[in-house]
Amino acid sequence: MAVLKTREQIELMRESALVVSRTLGEVAKLIRPGVTPLELDKVAEEYIRSQGAVPGFLGYGGFPNTLCISVNEQVVHGIPSDKPLEEGDIISVDCGAILNGYYGDHAFTFAIGEISEELKQLLKVTEESLYLGIEQIRSGNRIGDVGYAVQHHAEKHGYGVVRELIGHGLGKNLHEDPELPNYGKRGHGKKMKEGLVLAIEPMINLGTADVAQLDDGWTIVTLDGKPSAHFEHDVAIVGGKSEILSTFKYVYEALGIEDPFAERQAFYSIINS
Ligand code: MG
Ligand code: MG
Repeated sequence: MAVLKTREQIELMRESALVVSRTLGEVAKLIRPGVTPLELDKVAEEYIRSQGAVPGFLGYGGFPNTLCISVNEQVVHGIPSDKPLEEGDIISVDCGAILNGYYGDHAFTFAIGEISEELKQLLKVTEESLYLGIEQIRSGNRIGDVGYAVQHHAEKHGYGVVRELIGHGLGKNLHEDPELPNYGKRGHGKKMKEGLVLAIEPMINLGTADVAQLDDGWTIVTLDGKPSAHFEHDVAIVGGKSEILSTFKYVYEALGIEDPFAERQAFYSIINS
């Protein structure tokens, strides 16, 4: 059973989400060839603690770090390493934080230096699929409507949609009901209601959808070795419609790039001013 949140609880969850959003912004400031994932992890942990929050992934199921950093063919759950990032890499940085007992959990895939046109397109389409999914998160729609929107957009571009890992409800627990696959059939699955909070997180592969887990017990990689992208937002149903609690505003500011979806997040100018 999904735990539906009150408006007050959703406001607390917005605070948790924004700790993560600002942490990703701090990480974004350091993104360049030569930086190591472990350096990014350290900055993230320090920033989260400076906000009076606690890293949400550190120790979760035994995970050893604050960030999941997944490089190139790594899809998600990568353990930060001391191997310097190289020009042309892409990295998914997934971050969790707990504030006031509630989790924030979202992710952004960064380009390291100049990347190929093929990878630019993968990142663009994956982020687009995230927002197309979010549009479907509303009272009365079904979980399958969201998955369909993500899957349809990604597959239209010839990409593989990961099946084994999925989005989820979010709250006092990192993973709550319902499960939110990035694939589905319109009109199928559980009906969504006011107060539902979801972490929606398309994982889209340049090649086929197949993945495997490395013997570190965490890292998920593509089976064909081709790169994968991952974007995640925390979204609540408020007034029947989706409201994005997280934001990539700080990331795009740090990168010096205009947020291609700023319009979708326009209300942040009110709460973050
Ligand atoms: Mg996440
Ligand atoms: Mg998640």
